[in-house]
Amino acid sequence: MNVLRRAGSWLRSARTWIALGVLAPLGMVVTSGLMLADLRRDAWDSADQTSRNLLQVLERDIVRNIEMYDLSIRAAVDNLKVPGLTEADPRLRQLILFDRAATARDMGVMLILNEEGDVVADIAAVPPRKGNYADREYFQVHQASAGLGLHVGRPIVSRLDGERMLPFSRRIDRPDGSFGGVVLGTVKLSYFTHLFSEIDLGPGGAINLYLTDGTRIMRYPYVEADLGANIAQAPTFRRFLREGRGSFVSTSVRDGVERSYKFTRIGTLPLILNVALSTKDVEADWAAKATIIGGIVLALCGLTIALSLLFGRELRRREAMRAEMAALSRTDALTGLPNRRCFEDMYQRALDAARRDGHPLSLLIVDADHFKRFNDQYGHPVGDAVLQGLARSLSASVHRPQDLASRIGGEEFAVLLPETDEAGARRVADTIHAEVAKLPIPSAGLGAGVVTVSIGLAAARPSGDRSAPLPDLYRLADGALYEAKTGGRNQTRSAAPSPAPLQRGALQLVKTS
Ligand code: GH3
Ligand code: MG
Ligand code: MG
Repeated sequence: MNVLRRAGSWLRSARTWIALGVLAPLGMVVTSGLMLADLRRDAWDSADQTSRNLLQVLERDIVRNIEMYDLSIRAAVDNLKVPGLTEADPRLRQLILFDRAATARDMGVMLILNEEGDVVADIAAVPPRKGNYADREYFQVHQASAGLGLHVGRPIVSRLDGERMLPFSRRIDRPDGSFGGVVLGTVKLSYFTHLFSEIDLGPGGAINLYLTDGTRIMRYPYVEADLGANIAQAPTFRRFLREGRGSFVSTSVRDGVERSYKFTRIGTLPLILNVALSTKDVEADWAAKATIIGGIVLALCGLTIALSLLFGRELRRREAMRAEMAALSRTDALTGLPNRRCFEDMYQRALDAARRDGHPLSLLIVDADHFKRFNDQYGHPVGDAVLQGLARSLSASVHRPQDLASRIGGEEFAVLLPETDEAGARRVADTIHAEVAKLPIPSAGLGAGVVTVSIGLAAARPSGDRSAPLPDLYRLADGALYEAKTGGRNQTRSAAPSPAPLQRGALQLVKTS
């Protein structure tokens, strides 16, 4: 029952609703924030998966093709050792040399160069097309050192057909180990263009193929100027080189776009391939969703906060009204003093507290003398003004916060003095007489001293026994007031201590006149 009541008052509190109105949106924001973070992670996971798969597929294709070309080059190097080859018919020689050579759409030229760089065999023509390639980088590299194995050179423009190619070459060693020429095979760069262009990476995505010296062999989307550029000094490239395989997010030195890079070395070849997705593309779908969800959540939060503030304000207004009504119901309208209902309440509490704490308690009943006559003589409005003046005098005579001056009847007032003994109460009563004596009634043209009051005083000092009831102070003070009236008025009389016990809740106000 108690719990229910407490829950009820909790629900009626404006503070509760304002707190709920703030906490609920906070909860919504946190929950949707977590949800959006989760969605963003999903977007990144799926992008990662996509680029990992792509990288794998591309790497496999490139490795397979280059291996195939290398096999052809190796076969030509081997076939050069076939006995009697130099004497053979040129057509037969060509057949022998290139018997295991693969032909494919993107295969460029395949030539055998002698130690001077002259073409001595050509897969595409008998007799071979004429040319000297001693100036080419791949030729000079092999000429300078043996045992390089397969050399992948920088992209070149073919002198035979003007196409861009990637040269692969192996050195021909004479039996004595000296330089005997080079077998060259080239792959058209269009191979990579075709391979990469089948892939959709979004508007900001890119695929790059580099030589390990930093030369860009191919980029998709294709821009002529990108080919051959060297980015060896770029931090992203250094990372490709250092780590061999991995991923990171970085801003491109080429176009300033932030991308998520996935990269790998291609087999054991001096080639590095990367797939780069623009972070903006990866998050594009998510960002659109996040904007909508975030907008809705924020709107709902704003609405919730606004409604709870309004509701809280309404509750507060009602609470204030209720408090004002409660205060009014305990206040005397004419004098502004606490009324009789309030006095009765406070009187019971003061009695309980005095008994519990063993403190003294005093009560004064103050009654205007011959007030009826005063009313008759000066009129009711003047009587009212006097009552207001008396109220001010009473208020001015008590100083402790727990003292209570109240109007309990027409021209009758009570002054409750907790923790005050008879001597203290008498001092207060004397002050009241003195204050009333100073009271002028300017509205009626009356000076000070026209009104007097009689005061009945009763004081209780609780015995050591805290369970013993206190005497009925009200009845005693009322009796003392009667004595003050009959004794000539404008005076205070104290009640003799009475053994009569107080009946709780049995307060009876007795008219003294
Ligand atoms: P006593 O000295 O014996 O107390 O004489 P008294 O005339 O004061 O006593 P009584 O109780 O016979 O008269 C009280 C008068 O107080 C009656 C009424 O005219 C007047 N009175 C009560 N309430 C009000 C009030 O609110 N305004 C005014 N102006 N007079 C009031
Ligand atoms: Mg009176
Ligand atoms: Mg009276």
